[in-house]
Amino acid sequence: MQLAWSAQDEAFRAELATFLDTEAPPEAHGYDFGESRPDEASIIPDWLRAWQAKLFDNGWMIPAYPPELGGRNSTPIQTLIYLEELSKRRIPRATHFPGYAIVAPSLLEFGNDEQKKLVPAAIRGDTIWCIGMSEPNAGSDLAGLQTRAQLFDDHFVVNGQKVWTSYAMIASKCFCYVRTDPSAPKHRGISLLIIDMDTPGIDVRPLRHINGKADFAEVFFTDVEVPRENLVGELNGGWMITQGSLAHERAGLWVDSVSRLEQTVFALVDLAKRTGHDLDPVARRRIAEKYELAASLRALGYKGFASFAQGSSAPEHSYMKMATSEAGKAVFELGMELCGPFAAVTDPELGDENGRWVNMFFMSFANTIAGGSSEIQRNIIAQRILGLPRK
Ligand SMILES: Cc1cc2nc3c(=O)[nH]c(=O)nc-3n(C[C@H](O)[C@H](O)[C@H](O)COP(=O)(O)OP(=O)(O)OC[C@H]3O[C@@H](n4cnc5c(N)ncnc54)[C@H](O)[C@@H]3O)c2cc1C
Repeated sequence: MQLAWSAQDEAFRAELATFLDTEAPPEAHGYDFGESRPDEASIIPDWLRAWQAKLFDNGWMIPAYPPELGGRNSTPIQTLIYLEELSKRRIPRATHFPGYAIVAPSLLEFGNDEQKKLVPAAIRGDTIWCIGMSEPNAGSDLAGLQTRAQLFDDHFVVNGQKVWTSYAMIASKCFCYVRTDPSAPKHRGISLLIIDMDTPGIDVRPLRHINGKADFAEVFFTDVEVPRENLVGELNGGWMITQGSLAHERAGLWVDSVSRLEQTVFALVDLAKRTGHDLDPVARRRIAEKYELAASLRALGYKGFASFAQGSSAPEHSYMKMATSEAGKAVFELGMELCGPFAAVTDPELGDENGRWVNMFFMSFANTIAGGSSEIQRNIIAQRILGLPRK
């Protein structure tokens, strides 16, 4: 069994490390999206925009892509190395994820030639995108969406509502799933439209997270006219697009979650020392358990990635999504307990932790919902990993 990296992979890692260490702006090192995300999504920092463009221009935005799309045709293993090096330094890659992670691969697979021209700007971060999937009665059951798009000769007219739409307040385009055939079985009547967010009839109302931050919104559509050429893929073929094209990004998503979990466990150790819990046997055991969990998740992540790199599907990733987000909740909760009453203090003059643990505990719930809730992942695990029948 060969467990070492190849010489090419080591060279790839060294080149990347040099680039990150010399070119990333000081603000990028140790950046934490959960904590550092601005209060209003409208304030995407200029340095982060410039950094994303620099990654793209140097072939370090999506290494697996060709140079004209911000990459260098790297192998899956090199993509893993890339994600690990970024996570280790907590260096962010992009101002917002939907553009490069969802829109670009979907347009490359399903878009026409005109639509494919939108891809470089989506990856470079020059265009900000939001994703209009969820609705008040269509989240986990996405196929239940009701936003209606009626086709007239050369345009659609869209009416309905989306919810939890990340970045909708700053996005210039929406990748929007709409119902184009209400009489068809629900998976078969959905289409995907590119909607310009400045089209008359669109009303964006920000929603606040429990910690006060607002980076998603409700979006209302009233008689919004969308040119027919903005249809992506086949009319009524939108469901296929939701199911395809994201495998690459999903395969590596766990890297950041696991790295973050490990880093938080070490922050817990540090916190235990500062709060005098480092000699408390119960606290020590609970921290050690979190460490064990992080280490076993990393091993499982590598196993899933290895299957993926060899072309097999990796249902482990559903487990990784569920387990890393649930573990995130548990580590931040333990941090709050170790802080005691100071956990909730947000005045830097008053509390060492400045509300960090309570803030992160609140935000950790979002990860157990966004992108497929823990309950839905458990259903997938039951059916695809354990082979239990569908209920
Ligand atoms: C931070 C954040 C950002 C988001 N960004 C976006 C975005 O940009 N664009 C977008 O379209 N959406 C976005 N979402 C929405 C997200 O995709 C949905 O919230 C998610 O899919 C769950 O849907 P729901 O909220 O409608 O909950 P529901 O589907 O109503 O579920 C409610 C509860 O019931 C459980 N449940 C539902 N069905 C089942 C079942 N069959 N078996 C067992 N349990 C079940 C769920 O797990 C959950 O606990 C975001 C959400 C968050 C938290």
